[in-house]
Amino acid sequence: MRLYNIVMSRNVSSIINYANTIIISQKGNSYLFKIHNVICNVRYYEYNNERDRELFNKYIGKTINIIAKIMNKNTFNFSLVIKIVNIDKPKSGLVKDITLDADFINSGYTMIPYDKSQEREIVVYRREENIKVLVHELIHAFEFEYFILNHDEVDILNTFIHDKYKVEDPHSFEGICDALTVIILDKLNIPKFSYDKALKHIWDKIGQIIYFSGNKNWPPINTFMQTTHGFEYYILKPVILDLLNKSIRKLTAKDIINHLESESIKQRIQNKLSSSIYILDDPKNKDLNISMKMVELEYHEDN
Ligand SMILES: [Zn+2]
Repeated sequence: MRLYNIVMSRNVSSIINYANTIIISQKGNSYLFKIHNVICNVRYYEYNNERDRELFNKYIGKTINIIAKIMNKNTFNFSLVIKIVNIDKPKSGLVKDITLDADFINSGYTMIPYDKSQEREIVVYRREENIKVLVHELIHAFEFEYFILNHDEVDILNTFIHDKYKVEDPHSFEGICDALTVIILDKLNIPKFSYDKALKHIWDKIGQIIYFSGNKNWPPINTFMQTTHGFEYYILKPVILDLLNKSIRKLTAKDIINHLESESIKQRIQNKLSSSIYILDDPKNKDLNISMKMVELEYHEDN
């Protein structure tokens, strides 16, 4: 029993220092802890590196603390299962006129039951970008995106994006969620993460994704073929990030629409598009593999 306790505290020690975190137990690849009254059951599948698991536990605790602090809430009334799977299938490279589907875009998901007091579940299944995806899904699990932009405002923004850019069934809250993800990643002090580098990468993707959608002008009306949310992840997100400028605060649809439609944003997007056209139209670069990774960041065993 004593030995078990020692093993337990070593495995979960990295989250002990975070306020409101109470360690319950650790068994094999499964960890149980309590934070802001949320019982977190974290399970790792084919993820055998203990140091990586400790890092993930630490980032889960820290992310929940950041969210709770900004929402000004000490307790939440649900439990959370987090499954970290380790599938080594990087996002495919872009080619012209491609339909953006889950293989390109998605690496995890969150399920919130209708009865919101019931258990919520996060699955992060793609090894590529897994910490970024974990933070993104934690924001969904705590519905933190709607704290920034409430449901009515999200509807207004969705209608605008649908009418103006002809994007089918837009999910603006995904753009909000992914922008918040980048700001929280910056607050986690992850050794290999640089906010400025992430921002540059995100803005470079704007030009590439419009180019591969078959358009050479902004706005790219009617060009977003998507079964998932490319417009929201690759266009809306950077615009929101630029608007927030690292501060996490409440927004209105009008704030975002005004920024998306501002001359400075239009000019920046057109410039990114022009440089992508210049690079990608050059036959020398025909074999460039343009990945749709959203940030340059991941942790795995050979790091
Ligand atoms: Zn999402």
